Amino acid sequence: MTEFNTYIAVDWSGGNDRGASPKKDAIWIGVAGEDPRYFRNRGLAEAWLNTRISQERDADKRVLAGFDFAFAYPDGFANHLTGSPDPFAVWNWFETHVEDAPDRNNRFDLAAQINVGLPGVGPFWGNALKRDIDHLPRKGLDRRDIPFPEKRAIERRTKGTFSTWQLSGAGAVGSQVIMGLPMLSRLRKAFAAECTVWPFETALAPLTLLEIWPSLWAGEIAKTTKPDDITDARQVQFVAEKMREMDQNGTLGEALFNREDLTSEGWIFGVNPAPATENSESAGKLKNDCFALPQGVHWTPVDDALAHLRSSLRCMVGSQTVPLAQACGRVLSDAAIANRANPPAPNSAVDGYGFSASCLSPGSMTLPLIEGRAAAGQAFQGVVPEGSAIRILTGAVLPDGVDTVVLEEDCEVTETEIRFSAGLKPFSNARKAGEDIKAGELALPAGQVLRPQDIALAAATGLPELQVREKLRVGVLSTGDELTEPEHNVPPSRTFDANRPMLLNVAEKWGYAAVDLGYSADDRETLKQKLDAAAKGCDVILTSGGASAGDEDHVSALLKDAGALNHWRIALKPGRPLALGLWNGVPVFGLPGNPVAAFVCTLVFARPALQVLAGANWTAPTGFTVPAAFNKRKKPGRREYLRARLNDQGHVEVFSSEGSGRISGLSWAEGLVELPDGELQINPGDPVRYIPFGNFGL
Ligand code: AMP
Ligand code: MG
Repeated sequence: MTEFNTYIAVDWSGGNDRGASPKKDAIWIGVAGEDPRYFRNRGLAEAWLNTRISQERDADKRVLAGFDFAFAYPDGFANHLTGSPDPFAVWNWFETHVEDAPDRNNRFDLAAQINVGLPGVGPFWGNALKRDIDHLPRKGLDRRDIPFPEKRAIERRTKGTFSTWQLSGAGAVGSQVIMGLPMLSRLRKAFAAECTVWPFETALAPLTLLEIWPSLWAGEIAKTTKPDDITDARQVQFVAEKMREMDQNGTLGEALFNREDLTSEGWIFGVNPAPATENSESAGKLKNDCFALPQGVHWTPVDDALAHLRSSLRCMVGSQTVPLAQACGRVLSDAAIANRANPPAPNSAVDGYGFSASCLSPGSMTLPLIEGRAAAGQAFQGVVPEGSAIRILTGAVLPDGVDTVVLEEDCEVTETEIRFSAGLKPFSNARKAGEDIKAGELALPAGQVLRPQDIALAAATGLPELQVREKLRVGVLSTGDELTEPEHNVPPSRTFDANRPMLLNVAEKWGYAAVDLGYSADDRETLKQKLDAAAKGCDVILTSGGASAGDEDHVSALLKDAGALNHWRIALKPGRPLALGLWNGVPVFGLPGNPVAAFVCTLVFARPALQVLAGANWTAPTGFTVPAAFNKRKKPGRREYLRARLNDQGHVEVFSSEGSGRISGLSWAEGLVELPDGELQINPGDPVRYIPFGNFGL
């Protein structure tokens, strides 16, 4: 026995009448087991829904109907608009205030009217009309001091969803919400006692309405979409059939769970209500035992230690929208989808003469030149007659009648005609629209650290702002009774703190917000206070010194007392045990005090770990094989990193001393030679792996 008999999925639209022939971005309605239906405007779609649902009810059929827009706004908005937290009050409000006709509606003015009544600028944005509307910004970044969350809880945890405040732009949903709630409100009233809305109401009435988001099943949908299918049509059909399938296999009941905390903002059907996990946008907590290595292992190989870090860490920061100018070096939190094709129109790849390939003949050719020219930014408005050519410059949009360009160097040109020899292929030197990237295609994947060339791609595809991770705040603390700032008249018993400036600069270079936590004496109380304060303002803490298990190794002792310490005895030179732990939930990397060891451990372990914490992809540094310019006998059982640089012959030489206090060797080096864990005899000319510091991001 199924709960329902008829399953309907609706792709709504906020725009004007789309004309008689089926096209995308209009209204599509899918019914399980039937072909998708196209509606040119909302009035027709609403009338059809009413009739169809009435017929189903007359036949005593139960109907589950999903609509692809938010059924509510972020918390607080309902109260502001209607004086009540009830989402249906918002439905009523829009039902009475929205004016809707096939060729015009008042959604932008209505949004502006709501904005006026609120402090700050916004929250609604995305005026797509030619005329400016006071109080309705065109750009999201022009908003200020918005009194409501940007997204509902369900949107915060579901990657790729849009904010209900955004009224225009590829993928935006805000207009559908404004133009859809009145329809839902009328439908609900028309079927009165027979209708409930999930999850605001928990009973499943003979007509149950719910919110759907077809992108939830984008992968499955893509697999079953044929090249000529209209995606919107395919999506509604898929979701309608998905609802039927879930009802038939008994999983629908579970998907329509009851949760009182969701009865004001609503929920997307099909998203699991369990607490947000790795895929969510919100930052989360690490498990207390996340740094626990397997018991009984004496020395952990570097690769095992890395694999463990990789699997136990996750992103610890939220996301924000930034203009392109501020995006370089940041971590992309959501995949960037091209807003516009590059190039947006076919254009010329060279300076030359354009014409239609249909007039090409096997021999050499003479074509009359028409007046005018096409240049980049100065399109030729007329049509180039077949058999004629026009002057065209690089980057110019191909005029009507032109699909082929001959290089100017290959032509003899007179006032009135051009001549060129045989052999030019049709469509030569013409760039196709979208040949680089099409609108709607993936421009940049989530997790990418944005480089100047990525910014170029975003700009070229019409993305003025990007969704990036908040900067990871990396605290740096030095520990040791001997430490002091570099200054005059310091007794030789004191050591100048070299690790802190080194690590602060490393963090900055990697694009993080470096937080200087100063240095601390080897005193537990002081250290504890420093860590307490640091845990409040940092996402991760790097300490150096005191990380072993000796008397004065207070970092490890403290982390141990807090019950969250793990000593990592890593089979690595240079490097002693790393102390890894959580202090009030914030990961702490206890690095060795020796500057060389601290530096190497930072590059090898902290670098990929920080990438993950910052929301970026885990990456291993790329090295390459070069001949050694040195001799070395290496013992088995541990990985070794040597300070190294290439000589004039392209062979790699290493620093004369391996002493881990030799900071001058770090400064001399331009990279590291990585020697594998096993025993090894290296002679000059033998291949070794060299990793330039640049490949560690420095
Ligand atoms: P530790 O790991 O605390 O036993 O320190 C090992 C060695 O590194 C000792 O010689 C310390 O003086 C030295 N050291 C520790 N921290 C620093 C620092 N911040 N700058 C320079 N040397 C340090
Ligand atoms: Mg010390």
